[in-house]
Amino acid sequence: FLKSCNNGYFEQHNHHHLGEHHHHHEGPTAKELIGNALRQRVESIDHEDCEPGEEDTFFVADLGEVYRQHLRWKMNLPRVKPFYAVKCNPDPMLLKLLAALGNGFDCASKAEIEQVLRMGVDPSRIIYAQPCKTNSYVRYVAQQGVRAMTFDNADELRKIARFYPEAELYLRILTDDTSSLCRLSMKFGASLDSTDGLLALARDLNLNVVGVSFHVGSGASDPSAFLKAVRDSHMVFQQAASYGFSLKTLDVGGGFCADSTFEQMAGVLREALDEYFPAHSGINLIAEPGRFYASAAYTLACNVIARRTIQDTALINNGTTTPDPSYMLYVNDGLYGNFSSIMFDHQHPEAKVLRAGGQTLYDTPAANGMDDRSGVEYSIWGPTCDGIDRITESIRFPVVLDVGDWLYFEDMGAYTKCSATTFNGFSNEHDVIYVCSEPGAKALLDL
Ligand code: PLP
Repeated sequence: FLKSCNNGYFEQHNHHHLGEHHHHHEGPTAKELIGNALRQRVESIDHEDCEPGEEDTFFVADLGEVYRQHLRWKMNLPRVKPFYAVKCNPDPMLLKLLAALGNGFDCASKAEIEQVLRMGVDPSRIIYAQPCKTNSYVRYVAQQGVRAMTFDNADELRKIARFYPEAELYLRILTDDTSSLCRLSMKFGASLDSTDGLLALARDLNLNVVGVSFHVGSGASDPSAFLKAVRDSHMVFQQAASYGFSLKTLDVGGGFCADSTFEQMAGVLREALDEYFPAHSGINLIAEPGRFYASAAYTLACNVIARRTIQDTALINNGTTTPDPSYMLYVNDGLYGNFSSIMFDHQHPEAKVLRAGGQTLYDTPAANGMDDRSGVEYSIWGPTCDGIDRITESIRFPVVLDVGDWLYFEDMGAYTKCSATTFNGFSNEHDVIYVCSEPGAKALLDL
């Protein structure tokens, strides 16, 4: 039953990701809702006359997408409780929905913990999943009663023994992260030849080890990394038992992508968990997904603020016909802003045309880049004075774009806004327009 169920859901979700999702309820589709929100905003701006900043870049967030991702998680990993990784996108509405859905939260700093506690979330629903913590933050969580935290080295154990001996500790082990976009294992994770010594020290310090955690790297693509990590975790569970610790929880971390590789990853993970941590073992299973929940829900709109025309003079001098010009487009967001994901998260956001020459083209064939050599060639650049600030080296569109036109980028919810700077004096606080394509999520949010 589970298999057929999964397959059905998998197909449905893939369609939806491509914008072909058909809803079970009446009313506008996700694409229509997002399109309407984008249209309303950009058509309201008069570029001849607007105040400085009115044409700033902005997001449209579809919280219905987050809700669907949650169902997709439940369908594929029903035994694993998600603790959303706040660092990925700490948008308050996103956190509110995830809290209402019953998720826990993975926090990495005092500010993230404070934000989640202020929403009224119980401290037991937070894991402080940073193996190398600040002393004063450890004292802070001790005060707040946030007990769950990770460690991966002896110095950290001594720190915890000093500031929070009652903490519930997860031993984070090293993984093979070679297939991931953002590798973590050179910085975090106890190697398997060190776990024995760490458990011995934890026992000597009279600390409370309650589980094992790992992270296969953010944006992972090799499902076998999960299999190996679960197998290694099982080994550490047995090791811990020999030191008198009866571990209760396995934390499988994050690393899940929102594309169709999720079903593949989740399938391998589910089978590994069923083998090494079966339901009757009574072990709790948790995870720390970030990207999986946040990425597809956010669409970013940017304004073309300047254009440089490039005539290929070599071709003009040698050729018999004058070639079409190409253009450099300068938009009001870039690598120092919400496209920080290009630097830090190794992403390749794909530009689409939102509005050109007074026409809104969202989700039409003319909105999309072309694969063939026809159309007009563009490179797309951010607004700062740094040459590194380039979003796209080359893309072709069937339309001529100019100052005042708009581009949009989908899948901009993960590791974008949260790592944006204010370099060159550009704001990193941009409007988010919320829509909700799922009545279930709407009801939870009182929208
Ligand atoms: N947990 C920890 C400890 C992390 O370092 C990260 C990301 O770096 C995450 C969870 C979230 O990972 P992802 O967004 O790939 O799910």
